[in-house]
Amino acid sequence: MMYDIGIIGGGTAGMTAAIYGLRAGKKVIIIESLNYGGQIVTSPNVENYPGIESISGSDFATNLLNQAIRLGAETELETVTGIREDEGIKVIETTGKEYPCRSIIIATGVTHRRLGVAKEDKLVGAGVSYCATCDGAFFKNRDVAVIGGGNTALQDAAFLSNYCSRVYLIHRRDEFRGESRLVKPLEIKDNVEFVMNATVKAIIGESFVEGLVLTNKITDEDFELKVDGIFMAVGQIPKNDVFENAVKLDGAGFILAAEDCMTSHPGIFAAGDCRTKEVRQLTTAAADGAVAALAACQYIDRA
Ligand code: NAP
Repeated sequence: MMYDIGIIGGGTAGMTAAIYGLRAGKKVIIIESLNYGGQIVTSPNVENYPGIESISGSDFATNLLNQAIRLGAETELETVTGIREDEGIKVIETTGKEYPCRSIIIATGVTHRRLGVAKEDKLVGAGVSYCATCDGAFFKNRDVAVIGGGNTALQDAAFLSNYCSRVYLIHRRDEFRGESRLVKPLEIKDNVEFVMNATVKAIIGESFVEGLVLTNKITDEDFELKVDGIFMAVGQIPKNDVFENAVKLDGAGFILAAEDCMTSHPGIFAAGDCRTKEVRQLTTAAADGAVAALAACQYIDRA
């Protein structure tokens, strides 16, 4: 069985690509390793997707999957172990099978790096969040902490400062990794406080977040902050190792592809958070899915 478009990853980018490919009359398979929906499934409420005022992340993902299946998408729950090209045919390899395709869209997303502190996983959705733009509005007029010193942490702090009472930006060093153009506006915000040279020792709270125990790395003293929300922004991890023989990755492991979603390998496209990009949001994942699918259709039709 030959597929026109083999899509690796069943998150928002992958499922949008499937919808666009199917509507263009192509034979499409989505191969997902775990469960459909990707990162958005863990978001209790999505309120920033244009045209949908409010929806749970899992309902959003279910709707996308149903839409793709109704249009004729085939789906397989399997772990992809590699891709290769055999005499012009692209082959997706999984633990049990091989899928020949005319084109491939990689849409494997990223995972948020965990801070690795006790109770972090247990309190996700109960004060611990990995997405300020998704969950920030639930903390209006409350005190929150952002952990991290990169661009995401700086942007999260700026976003949260618009409606939270107080935002503590907690970074383990004395200078931010993120760009100074993002630091400067925070310095003049009355409700933003930088807590530098500090690491998180513990999260306070059993059923919901009540605060943090931090360690000052200079004095080695512990101190507490009372907060209702903790936004983890300690980096993102792509899952592209198995593709590194087929497409070029950047130093951090993201697939090198611009807004046209073209990779270094003709006929293989990258969509959503797994590729090099600035803004990693639900809307940009969906946009990439459409762009990659239409590019794949063009590639197939020209061949
Ligand atoms: P990042 O740049 O990798 O920054 C992660 C931050 O988390 C770093 O400050 C790091 O500290 C800290 N960190 C990592 N592990 C930690 C730990 N265990 N405990 C405490 N702190 C820890 O990640 P990001 O901010 O998510 O950005 C990812 C990429 O997207 C970057 O290339 C970024 O430039 C890009 N991005 C761009 C924009 C934009 O507007 N241009 C916006 C968002 C993201 P250290 O600094 O000490 O290592």
